[in-house]
Amino acid sequence: SIPLGFFGGIGAASRRGILIKGGNYLEALNHVGAVVFDKTGTLTKGTFKVTKIEPADGMDRDELLRIAAAAESHSNHPIAKSIIEAYGRPLEGLDIKAYEEIAGQGVRVVLGDREILAGNVALMDRYGVKHPMIDEAGTIVYVAVNGRYAGYIIIADEIKDDAAETIRKLKNMGIKTVMLTGDREPIAKAVAHRLGLDGYFAELLPDQKVEKLEQLQKDLAVGQKLAFVGDGINDAPVLARADIGVAMGALGSDAAIEAADVVLMNDYVSRILGAIDTARRTQRIVQ
Ligand code: ADP
Ligand code: MG
Repeated sequence: SIPLGFFGGIGAASRRGILIKGGNYLEALNHVGAVVFDKTGTLTKGTFKVTKIEPADGMDRDELLRIAAAAESHSNHPIAKSIIEAYGRPLEGLDIKAYEEIAGQGVRVVLGDREILAGNVALMDRYGVKHPMIDEAGTIVYVAVNGRYAGYIIIADEIKDDAAETIRKLKNMGIKTVMLTGDREPIAKAVAHRLGLDGYFAELLPDQKVEKLEQLQKDLAVGQKLAFVGDGINDAPVLARADIGVAMGALGSDAAIEAADVVLMNDYVSRILGAIDTARRTQRIVQ
C-alpha cells in the first residue's frame, strides 16, 4: 500500500543522482531517527597517502614497500590502492600461490616461498606475529614475512569536505549521527570529534558492525528507521541489515550496490541530505 506519489519521488531522486530501489525506502527515509556512517571512504576520502615507511632490522624501505604492494595487489581496499600507488612501479609476474583478504584486518598472501601479511594489530595477533606497538597518527599497516615482523607503513586519510556540514544538518533535523569503523580508536575518536558526531564505535570487525547496528536500531523510538551509509568495502552485511542501506556509488563495489536500498551515484556524502529532502517533498505531495 505504497501511495502512487512515491514513484514520482523515485524519479525526482534519480535526477539528483540518487537511485532508490523502491517507494518503501523513500517512505522509510521520512522516518529516519539515526544515520549511521562507515568511516573510510564514506566520511573520509578513502584516498590514503603513504606518509611513512619504517622497515624492521635487516629490511630496507624499498623492499618493505615492494613486499607490501605485492601483498595488496589483489585488494580493492583504499589502503591497498595507496600502497600500490606509493610503490609506483608495475607489479607483474608475481608468483602468487594463495591470496586471502581478512575483512577488517588485512591480507595474507603466499608469494613464491614467502607468506606475507599486511594489516592491523588484529591481523598480526591472529597469526601470532610479535610486533612493536606503534603509537603514531594515521593508519598503521604492519607487514610480516614468514611469521616475522618486517616493518610498518603509515597511511593518512582526510575527512571529506562536505562531511561536517552533512552531520550538522542531520543533527539540526533531530537525527542521531553515529560512526562505525574497523579502524583504530584514536583515529575514530579524532574524526568523530572533528565532525561533532553523536557517537562512534571503533575497531569493529564486519560482524561486530552488524551487532552494533542492531543495537542502535533497538535504541530508536517506535516507528523510527535507521539508515546506514557506507562505501561497501567490508560493509555489505551492514548495508543489507539496515532499514535503509545507502551505498556510495563511485567507490562502491557491485556487492554493495546489490546489498543497498539506496545508491548515491557519487562520493558526496551530503547526497544523503538530498535523499531525505526528496522523501519529505514527496510525502507532502502524497498527503
Ligand atoms: P572502515 O570501517 O574504517 O571502513 P575497514 O573495516 O575497511 O575500515 O578496515 C578496518 C581496518 O582493517 C583498516 O583500518 C586496516 O587497518 C585493516 N585493513 C582492512 N583491509 C586492509 C588491507 N587490504 N590492507 C591492510 N589493512 C587492511
Ligand atoms: Mg569501509
